Amino acid sequence: MNIIVCIKQVPETTEVRINPETNTLIREGVKSIINPFDMYAIEESVRLKERFGGKVTVVTMGPPQADAALREAISMGADEGVLVCDRAFAGSDTWATSYTLAGAIKKIGTFDLVICGKQASDGDTAQVGPGIATHLNIPQVTYVKKVEEASDRLMRVERMLEEGFEIIETPLPALLTVVKEINEPRIPSLKGLLRAKSAKITMWGQKELELDPQKIGLCGSPTQVVKIFTPAQRVGGQILKGEASEIAAQIVELLRSEVN
Ligand SMILES: Cc1cc2nc3c(=O)[nH]c(=O)nc-3n(C[C@H](O)[C@H](O)[C@H](O)COP(=O)(O)OP(=O)(O)OC[C@H]3O[C@@H](n4cnc5c(N)ncnc54)[C@H](O)[C@@H]3O)c2cc1C
Repeated sequence: MNIIVCIKQVPETTEVRINPETNTLIREGVKSIINPFDMYAIEESVRLKERFGGKVTVVTMGPPQADAALREAISMGADEGVLVCDRAFAGSDTWATSYTLAGAIKKIGTFDLVICGKQASDGDTAQVGPGIATHLNIPQVTYVKKVEEASDRLMRVERMLEEGFEIIETPLPALLTVVKEINEPRIPSLKGLLRAKSAKITMWGQKELELDPQKIGLCGSPTQVVKIFTPAQRVGGQILKGEASEIAAQIVELLRSEVN
């Protein structure tokens, strides 16, 4: 089974500071890690490779230092790493990001499965996985908590719901996004760490991917971050007391006074 895993390098803290002028994250002085949900994606891909054979390729779109994230994935058992890196991709929103990653996946070649994390801990949109599936025109199953069965052409998975789960069968190739309940990511072995250190990372930019220039970077991004801010803390609300009917009457009165 040929599996492609998309991983994102994110700041280690969730308390990221925002530059109020550019509306971008201030990354200076903040340690970078692999997005926590992507650790589960890497682990699942390696487990599937151990079960069914094949190859795991990890892909990240980011700055040159995202190379470290790919090496960490290789130390956990992935076979190859691809860094998608070019100034032309700067300013991408989730649509342009998923278009670019889909372009890299197509260039990697034939695959059976793409695995993404549920969402990134900084951007938090959970849009990139479904976006990639859309650009590749393949089925997607989000919030996967267990891979039950897999064959050359079919996969049966458990998909997490708010209360319980559902079992979904999908033809392959397909894209999954995974939740943390799916597995426990392994600690890399010494052999894995040594292999990762000397692994060759493939780097692709716009020149290699030959993507539509109108669909990448800022120019290919239909959405823009207008403002990012920390919401003001809410002050205490009003607690209404009494029987349900009395509370209902009080609510109606309050709403009336707000309208008038
Ligand atoms: C409206 C808007 C405008 C933006 N403008 C800019 C901008 O100007 N400059 C800028 O730097 N960023 C910008 N961003 C942020 C950028 O689009 C996101 O960082 C990126 O698209 C990932 O989205 P996310 O963090 O919400 O990931 P999610 O969709 O939450 O991530 C889900 C999964 O997708 C995969 N994934 C996500 N990102 C990557 C990646 N880069 N490489 C590989 N796999 C990945 C991972 O498996 C991850 O677990 C913008 C975002 C939005 C919503």
